[in-house]
Amino acid sequence: MKIRSSEITMSAVHRHQYPTDGIPEIALAGRSNVGKSSLTNALLNRRNFARTSSTPGKTRTINFYLINKEFFFVDLPGYGYAKVAKSEKDKWGQVMERYLQDRDELCAIFLLVDIRHEPTADDKMMYDWIKYYGYDCVVVATKADKISRGQYLKHLSVIRKKLQLEKDEKIIPVSSSKKTGIEELWSEIVEQYRK
Ligand code: GDP
Repeated sequence: MKIRSSEITMSAVHRHQYPTDGIPEIALAGRSNVGKSSLTNALLNRRNFARTSSTPGKTRTINFYLINKEFFFVDLPGYGYAKVAKSEKDKWGQVMERYLQDRDELCAIFLLVDIRHEPTADDKMMYDWIKYYGYDCVVVATKADKISRGQYLKHLSVIRKKLQLEKDEKIIPVSSSKKTGIEELWSEIVEQYRK
């Protein structure tokens, strides 16, 4: 995928702040520290476009990045940071629910999980939410450079089992630091926003 242009268009908390031009959207979800900012930068071939999290769990906005004037990457706030107060978690839930309810523009949600670990209860909740609201889900297994290729299958099957993925739902292993899996992920993103 050739990136001709990428720009952060808006940061939203409320519905009236979302884009209104009907451009398709692809959302990225995942717990804090899963590697979402690094992956966004790797996908866009930029170094510091999406900010990597120096204060995990602090971002409570939904960020819309317009790519090639064709579609939006929607960066959903990270979850699962242990030190976050309950009031913050409630706010996170409200921000997420507001977005997930009836978002016609949203073509699919890419759910990021760490390839090394069994998905957490929060990951499972996020997956169930995605399905509950009726969106397609593609799972992205991040930090794939941290395990050997020979171990991929074993780890992917743990993820598949814990999340209870449907047979036709994909898991794409990627490494932002080694830039592996990025092209495959791009193909899937393009397929999803053009469908
Ligand atoms: P975010 O909170 O989901 O945006 O996560 P970040 O992108 O800030 O990444 C969290 C930590 O994981 C940082 O220390 C990154 O350097 C590291 N990280 C992210 N992606 C990778 C990867 O592909 N491989 C490795 N080894 N580390 C990564």
